[in-house]
Amino acid sequence: MKKLFNYLSVVALLMLTACNGATFITPDKDAVSFAIDGDEESVNISADGSWSISECPEWVTTEVQDSVLTIKTAKNETGAVREGDIILSGKEGVNVKIKVTQAAKCTHITPASDKVEFEKEGGTQTVNIDTDGLPQVEAPEGFTATYAAGVLTINTPANEEGVKNGEIKLTCEDQSATIAVSQKGNVCPKCNGTGKIKCPKCHGRGYTSYGGADAAWGCKSCGGRGYEGEGMDLDDCLVRGSGRIRCPQCGGSGR
Ligand SMILES: [Zn+2]
Ligand SMILES: [Zn+2]
Repeated sequence: MKKLFNYLSVVALLMLTACNGATFITPDKDAVSFAIDGDEESVNISADGSWSISECPEWVTTEVQDSVLTIKTAKNETGAVREGDIILSGKEGVNVKIKVTQAAKCTHITPASDKVEFEKEGGTQTVNIDTDGLPQVEAPEGFTATYAAGVLTINTPANEEGVKNGEIKLTCEDQSATIAVSQKGNVCPKCNGTGKIKCPKCHGRGYTSYGGADAAWGCKSCGGRGYEGEGMDLDDCLVRGSGRIRCPQCGGSGR
């Protein structure tokens, strides 16, 4: 008889536990949305008793730790926006819905900076990227760039040559962004570090003339203007150019 009694108390205890379902379940958010790549989101759940997940979309995985529900999604490869509900259930009739949405498209790529400069020693720099997609990365010669989890990592070795310039391109479907990269180098071989080269239009004279004519035009390429010619007392109008222009290879930096 005692044995039976013990058995009955266990049953009663089990029933009590089963009846201990929450009479209220309050998540701190009733909707979560994910980018195309998927991620995880935590939802804090307040409840006065036990609850369980009674429904969950098949493309969503969940984890419960104490009062925190973690909702995870993988990359959405369906090509369509996904929507579904997670239902949390407590005591009979107590059901709470958390709506889950996942985008099907990358909608933006926004780098925290549009310019990265390296010293000639090279190294690694990072740029935070705000995006809801997984951008493809194209780096110019002399630089490598990789994207992972919201961070673009750019590497370049030491530069023994002239200054290096280029553009890193991030693309994701119809979205794109560019980041200018540059690296200082040794003295520019084209201008020998002066940042300027001889003006190719006037060969450094600062003026041009044609067919042996005794007339001269100020070279516009290197800052000249006006002209002077035979029989014209217009000497004051001729302004010679400097005969030098900004070095196209180093952009005038000389390195
Ligand atoms: Zn130069
Ligand atoms: Zn010139």
